[in-house]
Amino acid sequence: MKVLKFGGSSLADAARYLRVKDITLNVHQAAGASVVLSAPKGVTNMLAALCEQAEAGEDYAPLLQEMSEKLVGIANELSGALSDFDSEAIHTFIDTHLAQLEEHLQGIKMLHVCPDPIAAKIMSLGEYFSVNFFSAILSALGQKNAIIDPVDYVLAEGEYLDSIADLEISRSRFQDFSYDANTVLIMPGFVAANAAGEKVTLGRNGSDYSAAILAACLDAQACEIWTDVDGVYNADPNQVDGAVLLDKLTYQEAMELSYFGAKVLHPKTIGPIAQFSIPCLIKNTLNPEAPGTLISHEPSSQSKVKGISLLENMSMFNLSGPGMKGMVGMASRVFEVISNANISISLITQSSSEYSISFCVHGKDEERALAMLEDAFALELSNNFLEPIEVKKNLAIVTLVGDGMRHSKGLAAKFFSALAQARVNNVAIAQGSSERSISTVVENRKAKKAVKVIHENFFSNLHTIDAFVVGCGTVGAELLGQISKQQQSLLERHIRLRVYGIANSKKILLKSEGIDLQEDWESMLAEATESLSVAKLREFTQEHSLVNPVVIDCTTSEVIANTYIDFMTSGFHVVTPNKKANTNNMSFYNKLREVAQASNRQFLYETTVGAGLPVIDNLQKLIYAGDELIQFEGILSGSLSFIFGKLDDGMALSEATQIALENGYTEPDPRDDLSGMDIARKLLIMAREAGLDMELTDIEIDPILPEEFDVSGSVEDFMNNLKALDAVYDARLSQLRSESKVLRYVGSIKDGKCRVSLVEVDDSHPLYGIKDGENALAIHSHYYQPLPFVIRGYGAGAAVTAAGVFADVLRTMPWKHV
Ligand code: ADP
Ligand code: ASP
Ligand code: MG
Repeated sequence: MKVLKFGGSSLADAARYLRVKDITLNVHQAAGASVVLSAPKGVTNMLAALCEQAEAGEDYAPLLQEMSEKLVGIANELSGALSDFDSEAIHTFIDTHLAQLEEHLQGIKMLHVCPDPIAAKIMSLGEYFSVNFFSAILSALGQKNAIIDPVDYVLAEGEYLDSIADLEISRSRFQDFSYDANTVLIMPGFVAANAAGEKVTLGRNGSDYSAAILAACLDAQACEIWTDVDGVYNADPNQVDGAVLLDKLTYQEAMELSYFGAKVLHPKTIGPIAQFSIPCLIKNTLNPEAPGTLISHEPSSQSKVKGISLLENMSMFNLSGPGMKGMVGMASRVFEVISNANISISLITQSSSEYSISFCVHGKDEERALAMLEDAFALELSNNFLEPIEVKKNLAIVTLVGDGMRHSKGLAAKFFSALAQARVNNVAIAQGSSERSISTVVENRKAKKAVKVIHENFFSNLHTIDAFVVGCGTVGAELLGQISKQQQSLLERHIRLRVYGIANSKKILLKSEGIDLQEDWESMLAEATESLSVAKLREFTQEHSLVNPVVIDCTTSEVIANTYIDFMTSGFHVVTPNKKANTNNMSFYNKLREVAQASNRQFLYETTVGAGLPVIDNLQKLIYAGDELIQFEGILSGSLSFIFGKLDDGMALSEATQIALENGYTEPDPRDDLSGMDIARKLLIMAREAGLDMELTDIEIDPILPEEFDVSGSVEDFMNNLKALDAVYDARLSQLRSESKVLRYVGSIKDGKCRVSLVEVDDSHPLYGIKDGENALAIHSHYYQPLPFVIRGYGAGAAVTAAGVFADVLRTMPWKHV
C-alpha cells in the first residue's frame, strides 16, 4: 500500500480534486492507496487571516464570505460533474462548520485574543473540508473509502501550532486498526492530537509530515508527495530559470534542502520515512507521467552538489562580551533559553577570539527571542559582562547542499567567489560538520540574486549578461542590431545576453523580461515615461535580482560619463566608446579606476581609441608585462583619415568634408573632428594608459582651421564658410604633390608630450598610405624596437565601433572564457 499526499496546490478547484481522484484510483488499483489531503489552495491562509482579523477587532465578515463562496463553489462544481455526488451532505457539512467557525471568531473578537488551542481547531478546518469533498467524490463513483481522523490516532507533543508526532505511540494505536484492502483511507493532513486529546497542528506546510507519519504507521511500501512541480529541483524552479530536476536524493540531502528552505517538502517529513526506510517519491499532479524525484538511501550519481535552498526573513542575534570569555556553559544557557521558548535556530556560528555567539531565528520569532534572552541574562547585561544583544534583521540564509561535497575540494571557494562576483556580502557563514552543506547569511534583498548566481556557477553553464544601453544614435542602434542578431547564437554558446533597458537623453524603456529587439523598440521608447537615473536602474536590478548588470554608454555625453562612479558602486559594469570620462581631470580618471577595483566591477573602453581595433587592451598588456612607451604616433581619426586621403587625390577640403559628413564618417558636427579635439582626447587616453599624468589642456593641437577662421553658426553655415579654405589647402597640396608628399593629421607622444599636428610625409613614411578611413598606430616601446608594434585597420563607422563595444560587453563575464 502507498500513502499519497496531495498538497493545496493540487487541490485548487473542483477539476483538480477530480484529477487527484484519477491518480488515487490508478495507484489504488495497482498497489492500494491511502490518501492524505491538505486544505483547498489558499484556505489555510484565509483561516489564519480570519483569526488575525478577529483578534485585532476587525470586520472579518467579507473574508469569511469569500472563503464560504470558494468552498461552496467547489462543492457545486463537483456536484455538477458527478451525478451521485451527495451535495446535500456536503453543504450541511460546510454550513455547520462555518457556523461553528463564526462563533469562534466572534469570541476571539470579543476577547481580543485567539488562544492556541482554538487557533489549532480553526487552522485545521480546511483539511476537514478537503477530506469530506474527496470522500464524497469517491463515494459518488462507488469507491469504498473511509476518513481517518488523526485526532484519534496521531499523538503529538509540543506547541499547539507546531507539534511533533510521537511515532511509537501513534504506530501502536494503528496496530488494532483494520480495514479492508479495497477501501481507500483518507486522512486530513496537518492535524493531530496531544496527550489530552486536544486538536493540535503540525506547523504550516505540515501535511507532508502527516503523510510520512501515516506511511510509518501503516508500514506503507512508499510515500508519494504530489505537488505542482515535477519533483525536487536543484533550486526553486519558480525562482531560478533553468533549475534542474533531481532524479534521486538521499534522506540526508532532502533533509538539508528542506530544512534550509526548499518548500517542496516539509523538513519534519524525513524523520519517519528515513526511520522506517520508506522510499518517498515527489510527483506532479499536473504531470503524473513525469518520473518525479526519489528520496531514499540510494545516492544519485547526478552531481556532488545537489541543490541550493533559501530561507528568507531571518534575524541574527549576536551575543558577545567579556562574560562569554571562557565561561563554560554559556552557549548551552543561550540555546536553552531559545529552545524553552520553542523557537527554532537555523544556523549557529561561534567566534573563539571575540567570545561571541551568533545564531539565526525566523524574523517572526525575533522579538520573543530577544525578550527571553534579555530576561535570562539581565544580570550579565546590567554588569556589562555581556554587550547589549545585537540583532540584525532582514537577513536570509542561502545553503548549498550535497552528500558528495564531503570529500571535494574547492567547492566552498567556488561558492564564495560566486557571491563575490554578484557583490553579495556574507554576514555570517557556517558549514555543517557533516560537510553536507555550506550556508551563508546575506541581506534579504540580495538573497534571490545570490541563489541565481550560485546556481549559475554550480549547475548551469549558462552565463548571463544583463545589459542597459544608454544612447541609441548611430553606435547604440548598431549595437542593438548586432545584439539582436547574435542573441541566439550566443545562447548556443551558453551566454544569455539580454537587454533590459534602452535609454536616450530623455527617457528609458525598461522591461522586466528583457526587451525583444526584433520588436519596434524605437516606438516603445518613444512612448516610455520614465527617465534615466542610477537610482532607477539600481532599483530595477534589485527588484529583478539581475546578476551581471552592464551599463553601455553609447552617448558622447559628459553628464552620463559623470555617473559611471555611481553606476559601479551600485553594482554595474560600465562599457563605453564615450571618451568623456577618461579625458576628464586626472583625479576623476583615478577615481574611476579605484571604484572599479573596490566594487569588483569592470570599466571597459576599448573603442575610445581606434574604434574596433584592439589598442587599449594591447597597450595595457604591454605595460603589465613591464614594457614602457617610448614614442607613439598614429592616425587616430577615421574621419580625418578619409578627408586627408581625398585631398591627396585633389579633392577640395569642403567637398571631402561634405562627403564624409553625408556618409556618417564624421561626428554630427564636423567641427568636432576638424578642431583636432577628438584626436586630442584619444591621445590623452593613450598617454594616461601608458602612465603619463596629464590633462587635456596639456595637449598641443595644430589646428586644421586657422585661428582666425569663423567657426560660429550652424553646421550648414560652417560647411559654406569652409569653402573659403579650399584654395589654401589646394595650393599646399599641389606643392606637396610636386614633392611626392602628402599631408597627414597625426597624433604623437614623445618625451612626455602629446601633440596633434599636420605633418607632411613622403612615401617612405609609414603613415603615407593611411587613408580612406583607416587608422594606424605605431607604438615604440622598450620591447618593440627598433621596429614599432603597429596596429592598423579600418577605424571609422558604427559597425566596427559597435562590434568593439560588443566584445567589451562579453568581457564582463570573468568566469567565462569566451
Ligand atoms: P503543496 O501545496 O503541494 O504542499 P508547496 O507550495 O508547499 O506545495 O511546495 C511546492 C513548491 O515548492 C513549488 O511550487 C516550488 O515553488 C517550491 N520549491 C522550493 N524549492 C524547491 C525545490 N528545490 N524544488 C522544487 N520545488 C521547490
Ligand atoms: N494546509 C496547511 C498549510 O497551508 C498544511 C499544508 O498544506 O501542508 O500550511
Ligand atoms: Mg507544501
